[in-house]
Amino acid sequence: MERPVIDREECTGCGICIDECPNECLEFDSEDIATLVNAEACDGCGTCEEVCPTEAITMEESG
Ligand code: SF4
Ligand code: SF4
Repeated sequence: MERPVIDREECTGCGICIDECPNECLEFDSEDIATLVNAEACDGCGTCEEVCPTEAITMEESG
């Protein structure tokens, strides 16, 4: 299963990935950076990677 890895240096906090994730897996952390908060619900669809305007998200194999 692939999961999103978010490059904190590249995330601008636009929130698009949070809005577009079909499974509500992403939220802002305390610094307004997108973070995966619900990995169990992530189905690896890659939507977040596709919609991120700064290419901050990379899908990577996990476990
Ligand atoms: S890969 Fe799909 S389900 Fe997982 S966080 Fe991204 S948009 Fe959500
Ligand atoms: S879409 Fe990209 S830049 Fe916008 S909040 Fe998500 S990771 Fe950050």
